[in-house]
Amino acid sequence: MPTPNPRHPNFPIPGGNELRAKGWRQEALLRLLENVLSVGEDPDNLVVYAALGKAARNWAAHDAIVNALKTMDEDQTLIIQSGKPIGLLKTHARAPLVIMANCNIVGQWAKAENFYDLEKKGLIAWGGLTAGAWQYIGSQGVIQGTYEIFMRIAENRFDGDLRGRFILTAGLGGMGGAQPLAGRMANAAILVVDVDPERARKRQEVGYLEHVAPDLDTALAMIDEAIKARRPTSIGLVGNAAEIYPEIARRGITPDIVTDQTSAHDLVYGYVPKGYSLEEVRRLRKENPAELMAASRASIVDHVNAMLEFQRRGAEVFDNGNLIRTQARDGGVANAFDIKIFTEAYLRPLFARAIGPFRWMALSGDPEDIRKIDELVLKMFAGNNIVTNWIGLARQYVPFEGLPARIAWLGHGERTQLALAVNELVANGTLSGPVAFSRDHLDAGAMAHPNIMTERMKDGSDAIADWPLLDAMLLTASMADLVAIHSGGGGYAGYMTSAGVTTIADGTPEGAERLRHVQTNDTSLGVMRYADAGYDESFDEIEKKDIPHIDLR
Ligand code: NAD
Repeated sequence: MPTPNPRHPNFPIPGGNELRAKGWRQEALLRLLENVLSVGEDPDNLVVYAALGKAARNWAAHDAIVNALKTMDEDQTLIIQSGKPIGLLKTHARAPLVIMANCNIVGQWAKAENFYDLEKKGLIAWGGLTAGAWQYIGSQGVIQGTYEIFMRIAENRFDGDLRGRFILTAGLGGMGGAQPLAGRMANAAILVVDVDPERARKRQEVGYLEHVAPDLDTALAMIDEAIKARRPTSIGLVGNAAEIYPEIARRGITPDIVTDQTSAHDLVYGYVPKGYSLEEVRRLRKENPAELMAASRASIVDHVNAMLEFQRRGAEVFDNGNLIRTQARDGGVANAFDIKIFTEAYLRPLFARAIGPFRWMALSGDPEDIRKIDELVLKMFAGNNIVTNWIGLARQYVPFEGLPARIAWLGHGERTQLALAVNELVANGTLSGPVAFSRDHLDAGAMAHPNIMTERMKDGSDAIADWPLLDAMLLTASMADLVAIHSGGGGYAGYMTSAGVTTIADGTPEGAERLRHVQTNDTSLGVMRYADAGYDESFDEIEKKDIPHIDLR
């Protein structure tokens, strides 16, 4: 039975044991599509997150996808082009059920203006990373990444503890909404600015944000009080970051850590320029996008100049993957890239070992299934502090949204081991239904994004998109249930290429075979990609785990 969804009553959370499709694999993908809408920001318009990240091109396309998933046989493959189903072909029972390509535009044409034009004509849709591939699990997906970033900064600069430290950031949207919780979990006092009161209210409602301050003076006083008491807290403030950041700098206050997760990648449908009300922005999106684009860029210049000022005064400042530096540079801030990107600064040693955001979803809808898998993970990876610490915190702080799900940063061998053990628990009835395994596209072998994932690679291979394309082909050959190739990244067009994958633990021996090949090959390619770029950690991993890499050094 589906569970009622108070946030979006027309989009119940899927669950139960009743199959509407011809098998669990098809049913699983159908539930994942339903799930991204149930946890999405604006499901009536098929938007999952990040302003335009959509689950399907339009409602006709959505309904046709649902119909295909319900009626297709196991030996067929559904082809989806930018959120629109175009054919259901006979393949074989070991082939993926769904393959999709979302928002890929040929190099010279891959510009935001062309994307908007094609979008308006109904020819393309942007899938974000996990929206179009039906892998989004609510804000939990980014909480751990954000938490790990804060913890790496704590280790590098603050003796491993953010107690009594002030984090300033902005953006309480689909992804950014994870920031207040991640900051509090890392013991910091975190202030998050968002221009939209509705977003602040939503995050407070789901328990991610503790307080909303009525004005900047009160917000800063609350932060000051928490810092003095060394008490973790999260405070929201309704305001425009392009005004609030410079004002905090003007007052001579320097936070310890500064970042931003507004939708700066999108100057029209995402970022809100200062001096404009939300109503005006909504009107201009239709009537004068060019004015909005120029005003957003001008605001981002002020926003980033304040971030650079904080950095000059000694704050730890980083770009959290929303292209704000790129927009500022294009607006004339020559030194915008003095701000570092989070991947290179904090996470690359993990990616070089293909340790990344692995995740699983209980298709039964039963939270007990995730609790049982938590126990398994704690036992299986007892020596892995990153994972055990996270599972403990997630159980305490992270409410489930949509299908109960969990994320943990696991690497080569570990993912395979866990997926196979879970498949066994499905087979012997310990779990009340099958489990879907997926991962973020921001994963070792899966993404080329020269301004986020692959910035300043050791060998200069930042912009080479062969890796995610190879990954997608390899995952198809490895019999995944769903394989996706996405493009866009921040900025919709031309910024990145990525591969997504979903495989279902349905408790069958065939499911085990699929899971073994997919997880093992996906992380093998990830380690090889970083070995190819010359990272020592990757060679260490290859040797320790006997990964069949062809070494041409
Ligand atoms: P979203 O559109 O759901 O939310 C963006 C929020 O920013 C909204 O709540 C909006 O009101 C607020 N906002 C816009 N302009 C503002 C301004 N000037 N001042 C204050 N608030 C403002 O987007 P999201 O899903 O939360 O994603 C945010 C950004 O992070 C996107 O650019 C996305 O691409 C990026 N992102 C990066 C990573 C990563 O690589 N770490 C992961 C996920 C998302």
